[in-house]
Amino acid sequence: MALVTLKEVLETAERTNTAIPGFNIDNIEIPEAIMEAAEAENCPVILTIGQGAIQAGGLRHLPDVVRRLAESSTVPVVMHLDHGVSYEQTIACLRAGFTSVMYDGSHHPFAENVRESTAVVRAAHAVGVSVECELGAISGVEDGISHSGANLVDLDEVRRFIEVVDCDALAVGIGNAHGIYKGTPNLDFDRLAACRRLGTPPLVLHGGSGIPADMIQRAISLGIRKINVATEVRLAFLEGLEASVGCRDIYAVYGAAKSRVTELARTKIRMFQNKG
Ligand SMILES: [Zn+2]
Repeated sequence: MALVTLKEVLETAERTNTAIPGFNIDNIEIPEAIMEAAEAENCPVILTIGQGAIQAGGLRHLPDVVRRLAESSTVPVVMHLDHGVSYEQTIACLRAGFTSVMYDGSHHPFAENVRESTAVVRAAHAVGVSVECELGAISGVEDGISHSGANLVDLDEVRRFIEVVDCDALAVGIGNAHGIYKGTPNLDFDRLAACRRLGTPPLVLHGGSGIPADMIQRAISLGIRKINVATEVRLAFLEGLEASVGCRDIYAVYGAAKSRVTELARTKIRMFQNKG
C-alpha cells in the first residue's frame, strides 16, 4: 500500500486504545527487519528518519527505501522525520516524500516554539502531511542533541500551545529520557493525564527504550498513542553483528542482525498493542 499519514494511524490507535511504534531506521536492513515484524503482527508502523541518519546520509536514500517498503507492505506505513531542527529541514522532508514531520522547538523559548511550529504546520498541512510538535524538552542525548535537567512539561504551556498550534501529535516530557535509563524511569502519570484532559492531540512518548511493560501500558491507558524506540533498535542490530564476529558470510551476518531487530520490534509491537 502507499504511505499513510501519522494522523491516520493515530486515529486507529485512538480507536483501539493502543500506541503505534515509531522505530528509528539507520540503514536498509533495519527497516526491512521492522517491516517483517509489523506484517507478522499486522500492525501499522512509523519508520522514522532521525538526525543521525540525516547527518550520515542526508535525504538521498532512506526515503526511497521507506517508500519501496511501504508499496509492498500489507500494513500501513508512515515515513516520519524525528526531531526536525528547523522549518527549512521540514520543508526538505516534505519534498522528499515524508508523510509526517516532527518539528522540535522545545529547546527554544515558548513564543519561538509556537511561531516556528505554526509555520511548519501550515506548510505541511497544505500538502497533506502530519506534524508532531514537542513541549518540555526530553532529556538525554539523541543523535548528538542533548537536553539535561528537568523535563516535565508545563501544563499552562500545553494549554496555550494547543490553542494556537494545530499539530497532529504532541510529544511531552513527563520524566522520559532518550537513551537507556539508569534504573527504573520515573514517569509523571498525573501530569500525563492532566495533559490529556486539556484536550491535546494524541500524545507521544519519546525515549521508549527500556521503559517496563507495565509503565508503557499505563501511559497508553492515559492517552499515549505513539512511542519512539531508537536506542534499543540500534543495540539489537549491533548485538546481532557482534554475535557474528568471525563469520565470513555477509548474508549470515546481516541475517543475524536483522533477526534481532525483528524480534525486538515484535516484542515492542505486542507491548504497545496490549497483547502482553
Ligand atoms: Zn526523541
